[in-house]
Amino acid sequence: MKKEPFVTEEQLKEIVQKYPTPFHLYDEKGIRANAKALKEAFSWNQGFKEYFAVKATPNPFLINILKEYGCGCDCSSMTELMLADALHFSGKDIMFSSNATPASEFKFADEIGAIINLDDFTHIDFLEKTIGHIPETISCRYNPGGVFKISNSIMDNPGDAKYGFTTEQLFEGFRVLKEKGAKHFGIHAFLASNTVTNEYYPTLAKTLFKVAVQLKEETGADIRFINLSGGIGIPYRPDQEPNDIYVIGEGVRKVYEEVLVPAGMGDVAIYTELGRFMMGPYGCLVTTAIHEKHTHKEYIGCDACAVNLMRPAMYGAYHHITVVGKDNHVCDHKYDITGSLCENNDKFAIDRMLPKIDMGDLLVIHDTGAHGFSMGYNYNGKLKSAEILLKEDGSIQLIRRAETPKDYFATFDCFDILKDMKQR
Ligand SMILES: *Cc1c(COP(=O)(O)O)cnc(C)c1O
Repeated sequence: MKKEPFVTEEQLKEIVQKYPTPFHLYDEKGIRANAKALKEAFSWNQGFKEYFAVKATPNPFLINILKEYGCGCDCSSMTELMLADALHFSGKDIMFSSNATPASEFKFADEIGAIINLDDFTHIDFLEKTIGHIPETISCRYNPGGVFKISNSIMDNPGDAKYGFTTEQLFEGFRVLKEKGAKHFGIHAFLASNTVTNEYYPTLAKTLFKVAVQLKEETGADIRFINLSGGIGIPYRPDQEPNDIYVIGEGVRKVYEEVLVPAGMGDVAIYTELGRFMMGPYGCLVTTAIHEKHTHKEYIGCDACAVNLMRPAMYGAYHHITVVGKDNHVCDHKYDITGSLCENNDKFAIDRMLPKIDMGDLLVIHDTGAHGFSMGYNYNGKLKSAEILLKEDGSIQLIRRAETPKDYFATFDCFDILKDMKQR
């Protein structure tokens, strides 16, 4: 399928008049349509709730859009909890799915009434010592180990992942938690990432539902929710078939009817913690080609770098690139598209066939709406970009300003060593 930007050439030309590149641009229309579709796809389940994985796109303006569709927040750190709390999400609408959790974060999560999803058996004691009790509602993260397969093809390797309780620990954990006063339970698992198949959730659900039935039978725990977590992927490449959320919802419903309903568990709520699926396709990184270099290869240097989008450097991830205004030109030039970091992996694309790029051309780097801006860092003293929302009516709204040198140097503000710095 051809990948086209959600923004037109005219709109982009107008935006860059006001906000210089690079910036991340988000598509309100797309975010809304997708959130609505997810809600519909799981409307068969009474208690269904998506807890948006805040780490994917921690922008309060965007999270507030999702809130309109009944989404809560899945947080993994103090600042993410603070963000959800400041946006007036009530406790039960905040899931705290963290690991190697500092005591202060458990304390704050408990204070704001968030649902705590424990990553490890030893965290039961740690939590009890930290907050002085075991919450009435508690969730445990499950890791069955081994490899996660869908009809013989290996999707991911939970046996190698640092997360979750083993099967034995999960059963023992439920017994211990119940003894210590927990009344309502949840089960969580995240066994494969960025899956572009409608089979992932139903396959995961079957595993979790079966364990839930056993847990209920063997420990008598009152299981209130099963959290399928994240992992529904997006088609980063043009040749990938997108997931169909309606088929996925229906697939989970079938397994629910097959496993949970006969066990008298037809009132269990399904939760999700999607990040990538909720935002990935509805964001792009807009950058300008500012240099061309003809050496052993053909390079285009842009004004964005891995600080703005780390996935290609970190995982060799593919992000589609559109040269704005040249959509119908033939892709007869082979380029490495690079940023300016002093790191040779700072390349948004390697050996990519594209139309001829001229200096000043705008490039749209697709699918940066999740794990894009948020993964950013400040290497080489590079600053993080602005985030801009393309609204449904075609207008634009700045939803995060770009960092300035002052932000970068802010952590020296308790000293006077930089008092003679020239401002820029
Ligand atoms: C990262 C993460 C998610 C979201 O994952 P996506 O791949 O963006 O869907 C959800 N839950 C937990 C616990 C996570 O760590």
